[in-house]
Amino acid sequence: MFKGITKRWVLNTLCAIVAVIVLVVVSLSYVVSTYYYSSVEQNLNGRSVEFANILSGFRSDMDQTFTSTARDYVENSPHKERMEITVLSHSGDILVTSTGFTPDKEEPMPDYESARNSSSGYAKWVGKLSSGEKVTAVTRIVKSSDGNTICAVRYVSSMEATDKLLFAAIAIFIAIGLVVIALVILSGTYFIRSIVRPVRVISDTAKKIAQGDFNAKIDKMYDDEIGDLCDSINDMAKELGASERMKNDFISSVSHELRTPLTAIKGWAETMHGTELPDKATFDKGIDIIVKESTRLTGIVEELLDFSRMQNESMILRFEKLDILAELDEVLYMMRDRAISEGKHLLYDQPESMPAIMADKNKLKQVFLNIVDNALKYTPAEGVVGIQVLSESQSVRVIVTDTGCGIAPDDLPRVKDKFFKANQSVRGSGIGLAIADEIVQKHGGNLEIESGIGVGTTVTITLPVANS
Ligand code: ADP
Repeated sequence: MFKGITKRWVLNTLCAIVAVIVLVVVSLSYVVSTYYYSSVEQNLNGRSVEFANILSGFRSDMDQTFTSTARDYVENSPHKERMEITVLSHSGDILVTSTGFTPDKEEPMPDYESARNSSSGYAKWVGKLSSGEKVTAVTRIVKSSDGNTICAVRYVSSMEATDKLLFAAIAIFIAIGLVVIALVILSGTYFIRSIVRPVRVISDTAKKIAQGDFNAKIDKMYDDEIGDLCDSINDMAKELGASERMKNDFISSVSHELRTPLTAIKGWAETMHGTELPDKATFDKGIDIIVKESTRLTGIVEELLDFSRMQNESMILRFEKLDILAELDEVLYMMRDRAISEGKHLLYDQPESMPAIMADKNKLKQVFLNIVDNALKYTPAEGVVGIQVLSESQSVRVIVTDTGCGIAPDDLPRVKDKFFKANQSVRGSGIGLAIADEIVQKHGGNLEIESGIGVGTTVTITLPVANS
């Protein structure tokens, strides 16, 4: 009948609340009925003590004035309308009764029997008469000052009015209990609905997201934990959508990157394989391009492999003591021709010497290549790319500055993210800086980028010096 959260709420909360309310109602009813019944008994007991005190002044029930005194008392008692007062002789015969009728001999009188047998000379009985009427009866044995039993006084009161009051009180308790349970069910149902409904919507949306619909969005229904969950799921869908787009862009960029050198290699290979043999100059140019483009291809594949190693955390570095200037020189040597052919100025003010660093030779060169390659790539012809190496007490800094297009402030924090490309129209896979940053960090250094649109970009690589 009930499912999920509703079932848990019914079992854990509602059942406990109902049990507590039932317990409270039963306890209250018990306390109130005990109180009512004991007040009736106390009342009867008080009267019986008062009457017994009067009668205990006689020596026996045979005294001349005994019966008339008892009758006077009974007849003038203000309580005689509400209770039956009886005086029983020593032998149990009825001497005086407030009703004027001699009660039926068959009527049960266990209180009288008990009082006679009890040492206190007092007993009470709550039960039903043969008429079906419920009564409380108390009997007190009256003794003279020398200890002889004179008579017994018996007070009987109907419990009908008391029971009516009692039932009314219990009915009120039960009604209050039912109202409380109804309120709990009402508020509980509202509360559960306010959880179950949004959870269903969230779960449906999460399924859609899992199936690849990253545009799925949940309308925020409440400004609470559920609302926060909606926000998180919406953010998650947005992030997944963005990374899906990035992944697709990455695949198309990489395919494009691979296709360009492959087209050149294939074109030149076909030219050389044609029916007519090309002249020596064309042949040399073709071979030169094939070698260059193959080297570029290898570079791209190496970068991809590095990226996958970085993802698997299986990139292994071989540290050795290095002269940073020698490594940088090699990289700049490779870049100089390109800068000249692209009409860009590559300025390098080489210092005399630098403290040695502990680094992986190839990986470090890869970082420099990537940074200088970016600087040249994003700087137009006639632009300047400057390289500076500075020594500090415990570190060495390589600063690469360009006068290129720069990076927008919104994009700047994300350029080191994998697959991120601020400029989709320029060649590149968007993983170069992510790998460079990882490598520099593995060397215990850091890579910082400052940039301004139209001003240029400055990349600072800081590496710790080797402990001699
Ligand atoms: P890519 O292979 O696309 O260059 P990178 O990870 O090396 O990938 O760089 C990420 C992005 O950062 C680039 O797409 C580019 O938008 C931006 N970027 C990096 N270096 C520079 C620079 N020197 N000038 C301007 N933008 C740059």
